[in-house]
Amino acid sequence: ASQPLAKAFNEETLKRYIASQPHLHQIFGNDLSDVRVDEIGDGNLNFVFFVTNKQAALAFKQALPYSRMSGGARALTCERLAFETAALREFGRLAPDYIPHIHHFDTEQSLMVMEFLSPHIIMRKGMIDGVEYPTFADHISTYLAKCLYGTSDFALDPSTKREMVAYFARNVELCEITERLIFNEPFMASDSNRWTSPALDETVHAIQNNLALKLRVADLKYKFLTRSEALLHADLHSGSIMLTADETKVIDPEFAVFGPMAFDIGILIGNLLINYYAQEAYATADNDRAAYRFSVLKMIEDIWNGFFQKFCALWHEGRTGGAYQGTVFTEQNGAATAALNSVLDDYLDNLLQDSIGYAATEMIRRTIGRAHVIDVDMIKDDEKRADIEKKILGFAAQILQSPKKYKSITEFLEPAKQDI
Ligand code: ADP
Ligand code: MG
Ligand code: MG
Ligand code: MG
Repeated sequence: ASQPLAKAFNEETLKRYIASQPHLHQIFGNDLSDVRVDEIGDGNLNFVFFVTNKQAALAFKQALPYSRMSGGARALTCERLAFETAALREFGRLAPDYIPHIHHFDTEQSLMVMEFLSPHIIMRKGMIDGVEYPTFADHISTYLAKCLYGTSDFALDPSTKREMVAYFARNVELCEITERLIFNEPFMASDSNRWTSPALDETVHAIQNNLALKLRVADLKYKFLTRSEALLHADLHSGSIMLTADETKVIDPEFAVFGPMAFDIGILIGNLLINYYAQEAYATADNDRAAYRFSVLKMIEDIWNGFFQKFCALWHEGRTGGAYQGTVFTEQNGAATAALNSVLDDYLDNLLQDSIGYAATEMIRRTIGRAHVIDVDMIKDDEKRADIEKKILGFAAQILQSPKKYKSITEFLEPAKQDI
């Protein structure tokens, strides 16, 4: 068992640590006297340091036995960083262009060292500033197709997959947070919830008393708990993505676990839609953000459609995993191929419905649950913010309470277009 650290690294202890690790020492060179350490973390849970000298620049991520925001009050095991590192390595194997390079992992110190991403910035911040990301939809749809397909029974042999499922199933602490914050608390009376009050009181009450809506969320939760389809990032929001106009990197998969593919797709789409609604508040005299808002919807369409195409291509090229072995789908004849295509169509149709469901759940929980997002929270004017939050909740509640099946991502986005 690892000996959890009581304290965060500081400049002195980090320098000493680097000197003690030949591999890291080599990266920074003989002279460590000019090594500078800055804490750059902005997350709730962990410490991230920018460590640089004239020869190198690396990011050091440290998980302490408590969450960063709680200042020591909320205990968490350090093991979460091992799950994060294992997930980054797996995703890096499948989609190397979209994952920072991992240089070092130390269980005892609960420390992971990775490539320092620069000039990449956190996507959420870029979107708030109205920065266009023309390559993002193509990149993230490739990442999603390769990582979700590549860790599923469509690609892996059953024994390999079971071993992986068993390993990540031990990430119980962070899964408990996902379940509680996303599926439980927002849909019941809980002291952890917060929302713009009293403006949203009635809306929140209506959501928490809407049986049809809560049954849908219960179904999505059940699928999250029971469907070990693929290795999920499980926290794939715009704050876990760092990018430039032509590069995209996914970071921070410490919640990683096997679950339904729709979860990752839906969380991402939900966060992009929140940003879409918030754009209204960022309008200035010389930029009404109308074009940007439109580009966010286009981005969501391109993500799903790109994912769909790339996933289909992998299905047709691959067919190596346990889901095919010894089944009718390995037969090379017209009838088997037609059946395969029809199964794939149904599979992707259900994936779209569930992705939409998770997106809506995310939009609600980020508005009335414990963990909000800055896209909306930074809007200082209470009235303006409440107005936007009501639109977000109205859009999401409509989706979750209706038995409607969406024929396309475009159809799903239509009411959002009408809202503004
Ligand atoms: P947490 O788990 O605490 O949320 P993150 O992995 O999200 O930690 O990192 C927190 C912040 O540190 C990020 O929002 C980003 O600004 C910065 N960061 C993380 N990893 C890197 C990296 N490889 N290169 C540059 N900055 C990084
Ligand atoms: Mg983070
Ligand atoms: Mg963060
Ligand atoms: Mg994190």
